[in-house]
Amino acid sequence: MGTAEVFKRKNKQNEGVLSQRQVGVSMEISSAKIAELVKQVLADMETADRGVVVNANEVPVGVSNRHIHLNKADLETLFGAGYELTPLKDLSQPGQYACKETLTLIGPAMRPIENVRVLGPLRSKSQVEISMTDSYVLKVKPPVRESGKIAGSAGITIVGPKGVVELKEGCIIANRHIHMSPADGAKFGVADGDTVTVDVEGKRRTRWYDVQVRVHKDFRLEMHVDTDDANATGIGNGFKVKIVKE
Ligand SMILES: [Zn+2]
Repeated sequence: MGTAEVFKRKNKQNEGVLSQRQVGVSMEISSAKIAELVKQVLADMETADRGVVVNANEVPVGVSNRHIHLNKADLETLFGAGYELTPLKDLSQPGQYACKETLTLIGPAMRPIENVRVLGPLRSKSQVEISMTDSYVLKVKPPVRESGKIAGSAGITIVGPKGVVELKEGCIIANRHIHMSPADGAKFGVADGDTVTVDVEGKRRTRWYDVQVRVHKDFRLEMHVDTDDANATGIGNGFKVKIVKE
């Protein structure tokens, strides 16, 4: 029974024995008391909320399917001069979005992977992120890397409606990483570039080591893994994993 309901019932019981004037007074006291109690309950709830987050060390997961980041020159080769990306859906990290545009990937196997999503905004260098399973289909050998570190990574061919781009490098398997704000970094006691261990209590429980922490003021708390990792553990978007202290 809610606090307000308790007070209502109490007042109802009193009505029989109290004069009209007394009831009025009693009602007045009750509403003031209710307001005070509600305030206290809300304050307690807020404290409890904070407690859960701090103690659990939980991080929501975002599963990254294979995708492509493009620079302006490659965008125009693939889609035509002056072409601009069409944003389709905002991603969890501020400023990042999935686009309407998709492309085809081809490697030495000559077996294409079609409908690979382009993510915006444009970057200074094009980058293709695939899973290890994809790499077997394409017969490319991308290194496991932090996004953006593409020097010496694998080559791959991208086919678009208006042209073909042969990347000499830029194909990687993204490493497991956690995006977080400086405030979250302080809460978890980690800094940008640190690595942590993560417990995954999915359908097939496991533990991920050497998970890179990426701290930036624009980041929202989220761990990114690829489809191989998600499928291996039986988890999906929004699943909560835990940072563990060893
Ligand atoms: Zn990420």
